[in-house]
Amino acid sequence: MDLQFTPEQEAFRAEIRAWLAENLERTWTEETRDAAHDADSLVELRRAWQRKLHEAGYIGMGWPEEWGGRGAGEVEQAILEAELYAHDAPLIPNFLGISLLGPALIHHGTEEQRRRFIPKMLSCDEIWCQGFSEPGSGSDLASLRMRAERDGDDWRIYGQKVWTTFGPWADWIFVLARTDPDDRYGGISFFLVPLDQPGVEMRPLKQITGESEFGEVFLDGAVAKSEHLVGALGEGWKIAMTVLGYERGAAALRYPAEFGRQIECLTSVVAERGGLDSDDVREKLGRLVVENEVMQANGLRTLANLEAGLPPGPESSIEKIFWSEFHQRLTDVALDLLGPQGQLATGAPQALAGVDWAYQYLWSRAGTIYSGTSEIQRNIIAKRALRMPTS
Ligand SMILES: Cc1cc2nc3c(=O)[nH]c(=O)nc-3n(C[C@H](O)[C@H](O)[C@H](O)COP(=O)(O)OP(=O)(O)OC[C@H]3O[C@@H](n4cnc5c(N)ncnc54)[C@H](O)[C@@H]3O)c2cc1C
Repeated sequence: MDLQFTPEQEAFRAEIRAWLAENLERTWTEETRDAAHDADSLVELRRAWQRKLHEAGYIGMGWPEEWGGRGAGEVEQAILEAELYAHDAPLIPNFLGISLLGPALIHHGTEEQRRRFIPKMLSCDEIWCQGFSEPGSGSDLASLRMRAERDGDDWRIYGQKVWTTFGPWADWIFVLARTDPDDRYGGISFFLVPLDQPGVEMRPLKQITGESEFGEVFLDGAVAKSEHLVGALGEGWKIAMTVLGYERGAAALRYPAEFGRQIECLTSVVAERGGLDSDDVREKLGRLVVENEVMQANGLRTLANLEAGLPPGPESSIEKIFWSEFHQRLTDVALDLLGPQGQLATGAPQALAGVDWAYQYLWSRAGTIYSGTSEIQRNIIAKRALRMPTS
């Protein structure tokens, strides 16, 4: 395993830093604290940011050139992600389209589907959301009940999806729907459905953070055109598994970069208050730094394997458990050390600069649930890495 970056990779990091210095005028924390912004204007700001990145060639970088990418390797993509997070850049609105649907269309879609959907996905003219989970079908996704029925050449979709990230702003949703009630896996198909049509109701869900970035969506006879079935009929499960594989393997250096920045901000506030004189405080901060380094080393191991052409293994489950549980530990320590000032809500005049700790604390609760819960990840490690007997 070679953990060193090549001179070309370091040059790429320098290129990204120079680009960010020129183009990132305000950090995401600064933008969200600006009282002039409401939820819609923050989405427009994120859309503009995605366009800037796209014009610079930084969206879908690993995709083939034919589809707007530059065939970049895993390491370059990881460096880009790490730099964006280290600089507290806004998250692009179309991250589900870019990280999940785009690769699915490149691997399983038709030429016509790629031509129709990929350019607008990259430029953020169309925002996508992911309709997999249903009430009662999250971890056990294959139990899903949304169904698609033939209507001439097209399909009509009936059922409910939930926890639909970015649903309230999305133009399209990619859904898994049942086309055969008697075949658990082979009876699931993958459809692309426009949200602006009769038979669609999107209800925003209020979150613990106060935002409504998620929705639950009800489809009651909404139409999916025949040409918007991805892959063959009954191939939805296979496609979904490849798609979720991308989601699990994508973030090798992102979280150490994001949390590293947060730990630095925390340390500087504590130091200003004279807190570093305490052994107990130094131990707490030191532990965070070390754990973040461990996470970085595991991310580098994943990247080294991917560079060597090995498939993503159980390291991605280890990473998922580690970053999501570490984020909760980090925000617990931060609120403990910062006291009441750390709990001030976004926009409060005395809120600390750099990190919105109250928001981070609340948001970190979701990390151990989405993209596969900690329990499910532990099951994967037990089965695939430790080869433990399972019932
Ligand atoms: C912030 C956020 C964003 C999300 N965005 C999306 C999205 O955009 N699109 C989408 O489709 N979904 C989305 N989800 C849904 C997410 O994928 C599910 O919440 C997740 O898969 C868990 O499913 P569930 O909520 O139904 O919980 P359940 O599966 O009902 O699990 C409940 C509890 O039981 C445990 N459990 C379940 N099965 C097992 C088992 N076999 N062994 C041990 N323990 C088990 C779980 O770990 C959990 O603690 C999002 C969720 C969150 C929190």
